[in-house]
Amino acid sequence: MTFSYARRYRGPIQAVLLDWAGTTMDHGCMAPAVVFVDVYKRAGVEISMEEARAPMGAHKRVHIQKVSQLDSVRERWQKKHKRPPNEGDIDKMFADFIPLQLKCLADYCDLIPGTLEACKEIRKRKIKIGSTTGYTREMMEILQREAAKRGYKPESTVCATDVPQARPYPYMCMKNMMELGVSPVEACVKVDDTLPGIEEGLNAGMWTVGLAMSGNEVGLPLDELKKLDAATRTRLRERAYDRMRKCGSHFVIDSIADLMPCIDKIQEMIERGERP
Ligand SMILES: [Mg+2]
Repeated sequence: MTFSYARRYRGPIQAVLLDWAGTTMDHGCMAPAVVFVDVYKRAGVEISMEEARAPMGAHKRVHIQKVSQLDSVRERWQKKHKRPPNEGDIDKMFADFIPLQLKCLADYCDLIPGTLEACKEIRKRKIKIGSTTGYTREMMEILQREAAKRGYKPESTVCATDVPQARPYPYMCMKNMMELGVSPVEACVKVDDTLPGIEEGLNAGMWTVGLAMSGNEVGLPLDELKKLDAATRTRLRERAYDRMRKCGSHFVIDSIADLMPCIDKIQEMIERGERP
């Protein structure tokens, strides 16, 4: 009989890569959503919050372009401008987007409850903390400064503008690995509130944890989420869990506050010889 042998990583988790908006700060991922609506309004086309959120997680220029490709938005654009949106329109809207986003970012910097506690526990297990984001470096400088004031300081932050292609490509995750000095990919866990962010982790070959309630999928600030009646809350929760599971996320939880049992479970799975 002839056998081949497969190599398995059974060591410790070495890095957790956290997304920013909707994962560690800006509950509901409000800051970009609000500005996308505004930018389209300036271009003469009204879009809904749901349309504004559809491609969330992508590089912000790619995001504006993807919104323009939604059938409903294309139709409205055609009606208003008598032609489909083109590259020039996307450039113009992205140029509008940058200062508007920079101006309001600092208003959406509160940490999502559980962030600091999770980071403390992660570090206690000698795991490094990296991060990825669809924001540009210029925007991140504001967020990093505000986050540091609130006690959150990941050891590495890679922005959409630091790599040739952002989500769902895996390059931001890979750059984090280099900056943190960790390997192999199976020793890393990517945590995100958006589907492109989960795909980013899967494309990198990492373990993934989807956050259903704190980010883009439900899209509500914490105080509004708390005000929901039980039936609405359950409906939104089930929809978000379903979408993230179908996207391939290994685990789905409500928010970063529930992360540590997941990390410990992944560690057990690695030790059993399982791979992402
Ligand atoms: Mg996010």
